[in-house]
Amino acid sequence: MSTLSNKIAIVTGGSSGLGKATLKKFASEGAVAINWDINTQRGTDLLKELEAQGFKSDFYQVDTADIQSVTNATSSIIQKYGCIDILVNNAGITRDATLLKMTDEQWQAVININLTGVFNCTKAVAPYMVEKGYGRIISISSVVGLYGNFGQTNYAAAKAGVIAMTQTWAKELGRKGVHANAVAPGFIQTEILDAMPEEVLAKMRSKVPLQKLGSPDDIANVNAFLASSAADYINGAVISVDGGITL
Ligand code: NAD
Repeated sequence: MSTLSNKIAIVTGGSSGLGKATLKKFASEGAVAINWDINTQRGTDLLKELEAQGFKSDFYQVDTADIQSVTNATSSIIQKYGCIDILVNNAGITRDATLLKMTDEQWQAVININLTGVFNCTKAVAPYMVEKGYGRIISISSVVGLYGNFGQTNYAAAKAGVIAMTQTWAKELGRKGVHANAVAPGFIQTEILDAMPEEVLAKMRSKVPLQKLGSPDDIANVNAFLASSAADYINGAVISVDGGITL
């Protein structure tokens, strides 16, 4: 049985990596899987691919860091589909440098997308969920948001902020039928890692109790679970999907 039949679901940054796997999983579970991504080419290509497979999907070119862009896309979706059931705040970037070398530009770019972008999307979409008395907000944090990481002051701050916002929204919106949860991935095998030397990958694997990296599908499966009725009593949770690396 399709667990997300006819749900209207937005995935930000759905053109690549974890977002793409989530978008595909949601579509395969019967949702109208809507991608909000800044990259028009990849978004259009993926939409064609999903439609060719018979899935219900849509694409909006959105910059999640720009509140006007987010508000416009939200209005268009409400006009076209009438409601929004699920929001996955997934879009994110890295601009790594140690504290002593981090520039204002690196700090601000990551805060704008990874923290303010999550705020913008949730702020724009939540009123429609509250109006319907139903909503599922899933925000992608990181194990780095729990424990910090060398060279990632900006990223760690934003990802910790995502957890704190999620817990706040769980308290504010829970009574209105809107659940907010966060997912904290560990090392996931995405395109970025394709270019990494094997010895670096081996070192990463060795740090994980399961002795392997995660796949985008590992995250997509948890997102689909949190979006489904099987997770109806889960609110304000931070679910680590990391092979046990944080232990
Ligand atoms: P990715 O780079 O493969 O994909 C990110 C997507 O976001 C891209 O399609 C990009 O075009 C889009 N995007 C970037 N800026 C945007 C903006 N301003 N507005 C709209 N779209 C924008 O990244 P990924 O590895 O799949 O990571 C996805 C999320 O998971 C991120 O939030 C990341 O921090 C988090 N995460 C990833 C890992 C990992 O190992 N890959 C681990 C922990 C957390």
